Amino acid sequence: MLRADAVERLKTSAFDILVIGGGATGTGIALDAATRGFRVGLVERYDFGSGTSSRSTKLIHGGVRYLEQAFKKLDRAQYNLVRHALAERAIFMKIAPHLSRRITLLAPTYTRGEELYYWLGLKIYDMLAGKRGIGSTRLHSRAAALAEFPALSAAKLKGAVAYYEGQFDDARMNIALALTAERAGAAIVNYTQVVGFVKEGGSIGGVQVRDTIGDAAFEIHARVVINATGPFTDVIRQLDDPAAQPVLQTSSGVHIVVSGELCPPDTGMFIPKTDDGRVLFLLPWMGKTLIGTTDEPAEPVDHPIAGEADLAYLIKHVSRYLERPLTRGDVLAAWSGLRPLFAGKHAAGRGTAKLVRDHVIFESPSGLVTVTGGKWTTYRQMASDAVDHLVRERGLVEKSPCITATLRLVGGDGYRSDGARELVQKFGFDRDIAEHLNHAYGDRAESVAALTAQGLGKRLSDGYPYIEAEVVWAAREERAESVMDVLARRTRLAFLDRAGATHCIERVVELLAGVLEWDATRRKREHGEARARLSNGL
Ligand code: FAD
Repeated sequence: MLRADAVERLKTSAFDILVIGGGATGTGIALDAATRGFRVGLVERYDFGSGTSSRSTKLIHGGVRYLEQAFKKLDRAQYNLVRHALAERAIFMKIAPHLSRRITLLAPTYTRGEELYYWLGLKIYDMLAGKRGIGSTRLHSRAAALAEFPALSAAKLKGAVAYYEGQFDDARMNIALALTAERAGAAIVNYTQVVGFVKEGGSIGGVQVRDTIGDAAFEIHARVVINATGPFTDVIRQLDDPAAQPVLQTSSGVHIVVSGELCPPDTGMFIPKTDDGRVLFLLPWMGKTLIGTTDEPAEPVDHPIAGEADLAYLIKHVSRYLERPLTRGDVLAAWSGLRPLFAGKHAAGRGTAKLVRDHVIFESPSGLVTVTGGKWTTYRQMASDAVDHLVRERGLVEKSPCITATLRLVGGDGYRSDGARELVQKFGFDRDIAEHLNHAYGDRAESVAALTAQGLGKRLSDGYPYIEAEVVWAAREERAESVMDVLARRTRLAFLDRAGATHCIERVVELLAGVLEWDATRRKREHGEARARLSNGL
């Protein structure tokens, strides 16, 4: 569906459910609700996934750290969160096979006690996953650990405990959810911001929005409005009721990206405890190494910035585990994401690292339904719980039950893990381009590849598998509306290499202008905005 058609539907329909926010939570809810037969609309004020959902560590996981806290504090909530998330991990990987994969994580050990502690903990983690486990925890000798992860420092190393997690492309998963929800009948629109509510006798019956692409303001009517705005949950709650007390404590998590030489292609490192009690990951991601993350209380802002102090913290702590310490000059890209952590009555003034990462669903007196907290891994459960809530508490009658545990997302249906070979044969691509297209687009890879017949086969940036055809595809088929939509979320170049992304701004503007019919003023603006985003916060 074209954006203009979706906007028209927002203007003219009476929806059962209107979702505010196009991150993992919002698009997950839209998909769940549309597949149960509800009339669904969704508005996102920027791009799908442009908030927290493209800035995660990209792990599909139960959370080893939370399991430790569950046992140390005999905390049932943490324990259940891990158990449910491990079940969701398996579902996630099945419904989005092209966008996810299994990776090995090594936790280096330095004493016999440490080895036993991690081994036992991770065995319990495996046990909690049960039949849905994705591999068995193993002990590595010192030699085996160094052979598997050559960049690991040998000093004082005893060995490592190896376990398995899922990894995914968060931004493309977010787009896949939006497109699948649209395929199921939802009207999904980005660059449309909720600026007020439509109320009758104090009850919400819709929202007032501003479409920043079409430069228009209008109302959308719905029986129920859901607030799925992540870090901006309280902003929306206070737009409804200025006296609403905050329930969220946001925390910033910074990641850096360095050369891929640090990590073997399928193995990362899990550092269970830094001096200040945090965990760190060093992960192979899209040919580079992703390192994160920090956890500092922060205010919700539109484009969070990865500060130099955060970068220094990551470099310092990770370097202790490496044969060759990292320097600031190794950093190719960095970004910050804001965790929406539910803190209930205690929203102000607490450290965030120990808040339970569970989700909550609750209603304001006006009927606004807020869904927040949770993790990417549990987005599907959050969505299903939210729609169940509407059926139970708001009298919405579903036409069919929830099917999202088995519904493959757009691109996933005909995906074959060996599909790259065919792309090489048919289109003569280099292997890395074929692999990338197969994973990013799944069963749509051939359609993207077919665009190269129009002279769009060139790489966008040397050393990266992204090609020009993807820019055109993104604008035509995936609702990309700006240069940064393409560089940061349809491709991931901005997250991998800031300089590489900056170099191809000009060409991306040119390609997008052709499809989206931009005039000279718009071209200039896009150029400037992309430069600003790439040199400040993404
Ligand atoms: P968001 O993605 O922020 O979406 C909210 C959306 O609402 C935004 O796009 C915003 O633009 C929109 N919005 C706001 N106001 C309005 C308005 N007025 N009108 C319209 N739209 C509006 N989870 C995992 O499972 N695995 C991980 O490895 C992992 N790592 C993480 C690492 C970090 C550093 C962080 C911060 C989080 C991590 N998470 C991880 C958690 C996960 O990323 C989040 O729980 C999830 O992305 C939150 O999604 P969301 O949709 O609730 O919020």
